Amino acid sequence: MTASHTDRHHDLIVVGGGPAGMFAAGFAARNGTKVLLLEKNRRCGVKILITGKGRCNVTNGEADPLRFVKHYGRNGKSLLTALYAFGVSDTVDFFEQRGLALQTERGGRIFPASGGASEVQKLLQHFVKDAGAELLTDCQVLQLVIENDKISAVETSRGTFTAERFILATGGLSYPETGCTGDGYLWAEQSGHQLVTPEAALMPIKLAEDWTNELLNFNLKNVRIRAFADGRQIGERFGEAFFTRAGIGGPIILDLSREIRDALHSNKVTLHLDLKPAVSEDLFDKRLQRELAEQSNKNFRNALGGLLPRDMIPRFISLSEIDPDKKCHSVTREERKTLLGLFKDLTLTVTGHEGMKKAIITSGGVSLKDVNMRTMRSKKVENLYFAGEMIDLDGPTGGFNLQVCWSTGYLAGISAAQDCSA
Ligand SMILES: Cc1cc2nc3c(=O)[nH]c(=O)nc-3n(C[C@H](O)[C@H](O)[C@H](O)COP(=O)(O)OP(=O)(O)OC[C@H]3O[C@@H](n4cnc5c(N)ncnc54)[C@H](O)[C@@H]3O)c2cc1C
Repeated sequence: MTASHTDRHHDLIVVGGGPAGMFAAGFAARNGTKVLLLEKNRRCGVKILITGKGRCNVTNGEADPLRFVKHYGRNGKSLLTALYAFGVSDTVDFFEQRGLALQTERGGRIFPASGGASEVQKLLQHFVKDAGAELLTDCQVLQLVIENDKISAVETSRGTFTAERFILATGGLSYPETGCTGDGYLWAEQSGHQLVTPEAALMPIKLAEDWTNELLNFNLKNVRIRAFADGRQIGERFGEAFFTRAGIGGPIILDLSREIRDALHSNKVTLHLDLKPAVSEDLFDKRLQRELAEQSNKNFRNALGGLLPRDMIPRFISLSEIDPDKKCHSVTREERKTLLGLFKDLTLTVTGHEGMKKAIITSGGVSLKDVNMRTMRSKKVENLYFAGEMIDLDGPTGGFNLQVCWSTGYLAGISAAQDCSA
């Protein structure tokens, strides 16, 4: 729709057409409220397209709200009202009733059964339209107009729009190319809200080891990774990881990245990989002895095929510093112990993290102290509401962050609509 065809006055303006903003706009409009959704990109939900590696992990099957909120740390309890209003089963019903079948996978992760993120994005756009909300894309909100402690209008790249009430759902700062440049944080601060410093969260980790780019995207399945800061263990995860050009990523690294980020002021932060967590060090040592004995006349370079994927063998040989042309029977006890250490305690040195450019989520944001989490309404500005990633609430990977958008987007939308008609 062009700006010239759009009414300049609405009951409710929603800023930001991500999952939270689309949900807020759609549910508000379904109640008969005259809603305008403003999105600066040419289409809504650009970030959705890259979620879940293009498959979009829409939510997580841990349905009990009391257990669900524990995944969000100390702020999790604040999400309870929104979850009771629109919980995991409502999310599943929402998509399935609109023709997108979902399936539950490992760790309770719920994905579209076929298709993926682009189906989710299209479905949400149809939802907004069918609900009767007006959508204006290519429309960047530049600032909020505040008069008498209330928002009266938004100034945009396509002129000024006025409304009775406003919802901000402009997301965080991560993956800025998707349109997330933290504009909402600035406006929230300007209108008197406290901001918990936004920081990158759920991001890949940079390592000192320069060989990781030889093993790009090589999947480390069922590994155990422990993180240490100055010799003290700060976290531990079990699951899947992979090497990246600059270091290491994958689900368990992303979930460890917050502890690592917070420990980076330490002198030394290290990761310790157990590639064979199902067997004890003793048992694995016996296995190594057996492998070497069974191949005693083979060169060491050909001895690791039963223990490691082929692509990883050259790097392991080089890390072990064992002469690859040495016969297996002459591998010494010390050399075998070094090898054992590589399998059970491969130590990598952390140099940093990949920051907002590669972070799945922004932690921090609008302080929950300034938001009534029963309605998502601001405690500072009477006609303003917040939804989605821009509030100080974030969870681990697994569909938990989109569920924040569905629950808070829904609650903000219906609360604002009710207040409009009051
Ligand atoms: C690579 C990646 C993979 C992910 N995978 C998953 C996953 O599988 N499951 C999961 O639960 N979470 C996932 N997430 C997190 C999830 O994408 C976010 O939690 C979610 O998109 C936040 O939604 P939002 O609506 O709050 O903000 P956003 O999706 O960031 O949307 C905000 C919108 O506001 C618009 N906007 C910003 N400023 C302005 C302005 N001034 N004027 C007008 N419009 C503006 C932006 O263009 C954007 O469209 C992933 C994130 C990334 C980066």
